[in-house]
Amino acid sequence: MDRKTVKAIVLAAGRGRRMGTEVAKQYLLLNGREVLYYSLKAFEESLVDEIILVAGEDEISWCREHIVEKYGFSKVKTVIAGGKERYDSVYEGLLAAAPCDYVLIHDGARPFITEEMIGDVLRGAVDYGSCTTGMPVKDTIKIVDGDGIAEDTPDRKSLWAVHTPQGFSYPVILEAHEKFREGSYQIPVTDDTMLAELFLRKKTKLVKGSYQNIKVTTPEDMELAQMFLKPSDENAARKK
Ligand code: C5P
Repeated sequence: MDRKTVKAIVLAAGRGRRMGTEVAKQYLLLNGREVLYYSLKAFEESLVDEIILVAGEDEISWCREHIVEKYGFSKVKTVIAGGKERYDSVYEGLLAAAPCDYVLIHDGARPFITEEMIGDVLRGAVDYGSCTTGMPVKDTIKIVDGDGIAEDTPDRKSLWAVHTPQGFSYPVILEAHEKFREGSYQIPVTDDTMLAELFLRKKTKLVKGSYQNIKVTTPEDMELAQMFLKPSDENAARKK
C-alpha cells in the first residue's frame, strides 16, 4: 500500500484581542519561547510529513526568521498569510496543503499538544474521515438567552469541550469548506468538524486529549500555561 501523506496546518493569524496585549497571544513568551513554538515542535517531532504555518500577512517574514529558521523547524515548508476569520485562514492552509491524504488542523495558541494526541487524532481521521481531540466538560452547562435566563440544562454526561488538533481526510474537509464558502451562511464557525457535520452530514469521532490542552486566550491562561510547562521545557528554554 502507498504511504499516505499527512500535513499539519498550524494557525497563527489571529489577533487575540481578549488577551489585551500588543503582541498576538501565539507570540507571547512562555519560558523565553513563543507560545507557537511548542505546538510547532510537537508537529516537527511527529509523524506528519509537512507543516503549513498560517500567519498574519505582516508577520510572515518575521515568522520565517524568528520561528522557523531560529528553531530549525525543517518540516515547515510554507508560511502563508491567513484571512479575516479563522475559517478563512484554514481555507488558505487547505489550498496550500494540496496534494495530501490527511490533514491535521491546529490552533497555534494551544501549546500543550502531545505526540499521543497527534497520533490519536490521525487514527480517527483515517477510520472516520473527521476527528477531533477534546475532553468531557467538568461543569454543568446551561443554554442561556439574551437576558441571562437559562433555557435548558443539557445532560452533562453527553457534553465535551472541543479542542484541536482536528484531523480529516483531505477531500472531506476541503469539500466541507468549499460548500460553506459557496453559500452566504450566517453561522458562527468555531471549528472545522462542524463544517463536515453541517455540509456533508459527516459524523465526528471524538478522542480524549487532555485538560491541559488549553487555548491561551486571556491573561489567566498565560499563568496556567506557565504552571503546565514540563521541567524539560524549562531546561530547554534555559539552555537557549
Ligand atoms: O480566535 P481564536 O481563539 O478562535 O483563534 C484560534 C486560532 O486560530 C489561533 O491560533 C489564531 O491565531 C487562529 N486564527 C487565525 N486566523 C484568524 C483568526 C484566528 O489563524 N483570522
